[in-house]
Amino acid sequence: MIGRLALVSALLLTACRAPAVTPYADAGRATPGDEIVVCGERFATGAPVVLWFEEPRYDAYSTEPRFADDGPRGLRYRPGRRVDDEHLAARVAARGWTRNTLADAVDLFVLHYDVCGTSRTCFEVLHDRRELSVHFLLDIDGTIYQTLDLVDEAWHARQANPRSIGIEIAQIGAYPREESEPLETWYIHEDGGVRLQVPFRYGDGGVRTPHFLGRPARRERITGEIQGEKYEQYDFTPEQYDSLVKLTATLARVFPHLELDAPRDASGAVRTDALSDDELRRFRGILGHYHVSEDKRDPGPAFDWEAFLAAARAR
Ligand SMILES: [Zn+2]
Repeated sequence: MIGRLALVSALLLTACRAPAVTPYADAGRATPGDEIVVCGERFATGAPVVLWFEEPRYDAYSTEPRFADDGPRGLRYRPGRRVDDEHLAARVAARGWTRNTLADAVDLFVLHYDVCGTSRTCFEVLHDRRELSVHFLLDIDGTIYQTLDLVDEAWHARQANPRSIGIEIAQIGAYPREESEPLETWYIHEDGGVRLQVPFRYGDGGVRTPHFLGRPARRERITGEIQGEKYEQYDFTPEQYDSLVKLTATLARVFPHLELDAPRDASGAVRTDALSDDELRRFRGILGHYHVSEDKRDPGPAFDWEAFLAAARAR
């Protein structure tokens, strides 16, 4: 036991490299804890966090598929991060990645929804089948799954990957009115309002909270524009907002260049379209995937940017 602790301490003192087999899976930790892992160090969030080496092991370091046995084998992430800045590259070359070099490299947090509905299906689709990765999955009950150390580059938002941390928020998503059938499948109306319903074929959906009763934070369906197109969507659950706020506040503390704001237009409203390459290069803060790519609409018009940002700043 002491040998293992000494090993962990030694690793924390030197440059960090997140290995495929983690050295800091400490025995006896209650699952879930509330800590995320950044360069081998742990930071408390106040929200439930399950790490990649804990059950159900949403482990982006694994080159094997987790659920889809017939899925491809191979790497799903980039060890460390790609850096263009020569000074930063020199510091990394000299010492390896440290929390300081990482904090200089990372200044974006990209929000996605997963179009899968729950985090288990998301991990199967993203990791097992599409050979992609994202640092965090946020399930409907507010559980955060961290799939790899933030020192490593996940494959979730193309050109923003080297600078960003990514999160997939579990939700079936936003649709044009004439294609909104998935909303009828995933949300049912009852006397008490609107309720999330994981379709029968997914069983319990892998949701950690037994018999979780999920409701959108706002009961009415939200209509709004993204990239100039109109979409309908239900809001995320209060449990998801609560965990996202706590996680975001922690990230802003760990990454000083990550500003608690989103891209805004001339009137001060959060933008509903993609940034140009130049605008993206200059921006530091929180982005929807649609801010990065013109062909994306997540996290959709129902995502309550102002309430989210205000709550994250307040923490
Ligand atoms: Zn996305």
